This record gives sequence, C-alpha cells and structure tokens, in this order.
Amino acid sequence: MNHKKALNNPIFKIISEAAEELRVDAYVIGGFVRDYFLNRHSSVPDIDIVAIGSGIALAKHVSSKLPHKPKVQVFKSYGTAMLRYNDIEIEFVGARKESYNRTSRNPIVENGTLEDDQKRRDFTINAMAFSLSASDFGELLDPFDGCVDLNQKIIKTPLDPDITYSDDPLRMLRAIRFATQLNFNIQKESLSAIKSNSERINIITKERIVVELHKIIASNEPSKGFLLLEKTGLLHCILPELIALKGIDEIEGQKHKDNFYHTLEVLDNISKYTNNLWLRWAALLHDIGKAPTKKFNKKNGWTFHAHEYEGAKMVYHLFKRLKMPLNDKMKYVQKLVFMSSRPIVLAQDMVTDSAVRRLIFDAGDKVDDLMTLCEADITTKNPTKFNKYHNNFKIVRNKIIEVEARDHVRNFQPPISGEEIMNTFKLNPSREIGMIKEAIKEAILDGQIPNEREAAYTLMLQIGKKLGLIIDEKR
Ligand code: ATP
Repeated sequence: MNHKKALNNPIFKIISEAAEELRVDAYVIGGFVRDYFLNRHSSVPDIDIVAIGSGIALAKHVSSKLPHKPKVQVFKSYGTAMLRYNDIEIEFVGARKESYNRTSRNPIVENGTLEDDQKRRDFTINAMAFSLSASDFGELLDPFDGCVDLNQKIIKTPLDPDITYSDDPLRMLRAIRFATQLNFNIQKESLSAIKSNSERINIITKERIVVELHKIIASNEPSKGFLLLEKTGLLHCILPELIALKGIDEIEGQKHKDNFYHTLEVLDNISKYTNNLWLRWAALLHDIGKAPTKKFNKKNGWTFHAHEYEGAKMVYHLFKRLKMPLNDKMKYVQKLVFMSSRPIVLAQDMVTDSAVRRLIFDAGDKVDDLMTLCEADITTKNPTKFNKYHNNFKIVRNKIIEVEARDHVRNFQPPISGEEIMNTFKLNPSREIGMIKEAIKEAILDGQIPNEREAAYTLMLQIGKKLGLIIDEKR
C-alpha cells in the first residue's frame, strides 16, 4: 500500500531528489512511520532516514539543496549525520548490519541492505520504512509485520528476543517505555527474555537509563511501566529503594500497607493533575524513607518515624547514583519528600490559621505542588475517610489563599531588617539582632502581629526593652 500522504512535508521530496542524484535508495524509518500509523502527532517530529550507501553524503547533499544550507553535524564514529530543518531534527544513517560482543552495547558495524538495517531495529513497530525513491515514493516496507503488531498493540523484537536484548540491554527499558507510553503489551517471549537478561542492564550508562525512566514517569499511567520493571527484575538493579518498599509485615495481627503499590497509586494519581516531571519524581520517591525507618512496638504498632527526613537524604544519594543533576530539581524533590506529611497532619485536625501560615512559610513557592502531592497521597479505600481528607484539603487550600492574601508569608521577607535593628539600638553585629528578628518572625507566623512594618517595629521596641537595650536617640 502507498502512503504518500504521510510524506507531504516538502523535506521528503528534497531528500528523495538528493538521493536520486547520488544514486542511492533512501527510506524514512522508525518512530516517524510508527507514529504516523498511530496518529500520534508530536509538534516537532524527529525524522530518521536510512540510505543504502553513505548517510553522511546524503545529509550533506540534502543540506546543499536547502535554501539556508543548514549545518550538518557529522558523527563519524557512528556513521551518522544530523541536520535541522524548520526545527525538525533529521538524522541520516547508512543501512547497516550489526554484530555484538558480550561486554558492550556498541556493535561491530558493516554496510548492509535495507532489510539488514530493519533487522537491527529494536521492535517490529520501529522497523517499518517508507520508500523515498521516485519510483515507489511512499511505499511501506514492513518485512516483520510491524503494522500487525501496531494493530494488536504488541511490542515484539524482529529477531530472537534473547539475543536482541542481550546485545543491547537498553532495549529492555525501551520495550517497557513504549509499552507504557503507547499502552501496549510486551509479547510473552520478549518479556521472559527481559527477565533472563535483566542484570545486563548494568552495562548501560546511567544517563541513558534515566532518559527512559523520565519517559516512563512522564506517561499517562506510569505505574504500568514500574510494574513491568518490577516484574522483570530491572527495578532491583535501577531503583532498589522502591523494591525495599514492597511487602506487608504482620506482627500480633497488626499490618502496614504495601508501600510499593501505594507509591505507584500515588504516582498515577498525581499524573492526572500535573505534567511536572519533578513533581512526579517526588511522588515516586515520597515514601522511600519508610523502608529504613520501619519499626514495630506493641504500643504504637508500625511506625516510620522521621521517614520524610530519611527519604530526603536518600533522594540525594539516589540522584547521585543515577548521575542525575544535583541541582535545584534535586532540591525541589528533596523538599517535597521532606514536607510530604505536613499537610496530612493538618487535614486530620482542625485547620488553624497559624498552622497554615507556617506551612506556607516553610514550603514557600512549592506550597501548591506540595498540596497536589498530598492529595494524590490519599489512597484509602474507605470512602468516608477519602471524602473527609479531600474535604479537609479543600479547606486547607482555601485557607492558604486567604492567609497568603492577608499575610504574604509565601516568600517571606522580614519586615524589619537586621540593619534597622542595629541602628535603632546602636548595636554591633551580635546575637541580639538574630533573637529580635526571630521573635518578630515567630509573632507573625503565630498571628500575634500582622506581617506589617509598623506592628513589627513596635514589637522590636518592646523586645529591645525586655533585653535591656537602649534606643539610640540621635537617630
Ligand atoms: P521516541 O522519539 O519516542 O523516542 P523513536 O522510535 O523515534 O521514538 P529514537 O530513540 O529516536 O526513538 O530511535 C529512532 C529509531 O532507531 C527507532 O524507531 C528504532 O528503529 C531505532 N532504535 C533506537 N534505539 C535503538 C536500539 N537501542 N536498538 C535498536 N534500534 C534502535
């Protein structure tokens, strides 16, 4: 069947002409073809072109035919080249045949036919190609029945899955990522091949693992991916902190919930309300401190004392191990994990202004995200409790708006500066200045005085008097 319609972007005609002039056959292959059949439109699609000949030469020739002569980035060691056309990244590669050795995912490469190149692709749904040759422009070449697998929603490798995954273990994560993103199933043989090769994931760089994890987390229903990661043994290698949350212990008839499945529920819940990748990471990690802090005693049953503090420390080590940036994103996740129980405590009790004021002060501009996390954390199956917690959170949210409008503590700036305290009492830098500032802040947070300069100034004078300080009359 012909699919010219898929190739209506003028760039395909230009590539076709360039290939004709160089007397090579060229094809568009992989994600572009798959997503066309899935009706999956990304705003800027990436395009992969395979040439039966030199991909680099084709890329250069295409560039020379384009009005702006875009720069061609050549990756000599991979035999690939890339150029940008209207924000679309177009990658060119020569058709190749690959063979592997056990210790690396980098193959030994030889020139090959289109079919050789399709065989080296990870999944049948990623191995389909449209011809760009003038004689059969738009013809689909699908030797592994990728179209059938697309219709049946199956992830399957073109060749023996055991060899495919062992050759390049990153494909195991890609299989799970595509299954999650597209809501597909992984073929049975493929799934057992992933299980038996799971430990080979250790030869993959952390950076590549994280790229796939991000994509799983960013999916509509990320739990699907994490359940597959767990089932195949990959999660043990990548995020053992989550595996440690698995299981229910029972002592003297007292049980705690399975925090692994709870975590996945929280992650799915939050994904309905936010696309913020780091907020989703916070949901995934919010309970990791529960494994190392779990204790049982007769009086209180199961406790996870200070698990938020422990969890926040673990976030740092986890990011470091996965070579994720230790920057503001990490600090954001840490802070949300650290504060993850604060609003729950509020929602269980009478919601007072001063408790809300302290919450806003401590969470700062992360207070809304924190509330979103805590609402997602309500996974109780008891409808009375479920409604009660949600209603209380509504009250907390409204109080946050009301208190913030009045008191402005979200990005708290002390209404009286240290300098003013020094000038008023003719002090040199000293402990008293900190004490006065702290007392003013506490009075504001407790609601004893409004967050206003005049009230704070009066309070400063009173505290100064109590501390025996003398006002500098010369001011
Ligand atoms: P997405 O853009 O959603 O990641 P994609 O299929 O375009 O999807 P890329 O990583 O850009 O993914 O890869 C482009 C194509 O290269 C794939 O469709 C597949 O044919 C092939 N490919 C990518 N990675 C591998 C791999 N590890 N093993 C075999 N083939 C691969």
